[in-house]
Amino acid sequence: MTRLIFLGPPGAGKGTQAKQLSKSCEVPHISTGDILRAAVKAKTELGQKAEGYMNAGELVPDELILNLIRERLNQADTAKGWLLDGFPRNVEQAEFLNNLLDEIEQSCDFIINLEVPDDALVERMLERGRVDDKEEVIRNRLEVYREQTEPLIAFYEGQQLLRSVDGAQSMKQVTEALQEIVTCDAVV
Ligand code: ADP
Repeated sequence: MTRLIFLGPPGAGKGTQAKQLSKSCEVPHISTGDILRAAVKAKTELGQKAEGYMNAGELVPDELILNLIRERLNQADTAKGWLLDGFPRNVEQAEFLNNLLDEIEQSCDFIINLEVPDDALVERMLERGRVDDKEEVIRNRLEVYREQTEPLIAFYEGQQLLRSVDGAQSMKQVTEALQEIVTCDAVV
């Protein structure tokens, strides 16, 4: 059983590492960014509402995200664990998640904080070249992260579940550091 929340600035490698761990620990990788991008692509109502915020590097409103997470964590495949990537992203979302986990009688094992210096983040995102990876939008996403998401580090430190990992290491080294924390036995 593995239940993890990935914290860390945009471009820190949360998605890449969560995908790896999702395979090795055999639990679903739940990325709100991926879910939203799929909704934008499919032009669903959610996608149409979210697109403008995403392209500007702003958080989409909580009301679009909270029910989506409630429904996702009630699906059968999450009974054996989950990796949350991109949620929670502000204190309201973190409080919602705490309540939801109480309600469904689950608890998170660890909150992984992937730490990467700003210079490296910008460089990585510019290389990636997603629609929202333009320099100005990147700057805004980093600002939004500092203002709204970074306070979650203190929020979770209080619960003693926070584990910080140096995300500036090579991808393989980061994966190894994460494996050590979660100690799920399957091989990557
Ligand atoms: P990154 O971590 O590189 O910023 P994500 O794929 O996690 O990329 O998120 C991309 C965009 O999707 C965010 O900038 C934001 O607009 C939206 N988004 C993703 N998750 C959330 C969330 N939990 N709450 C609000 N907006 C979100």
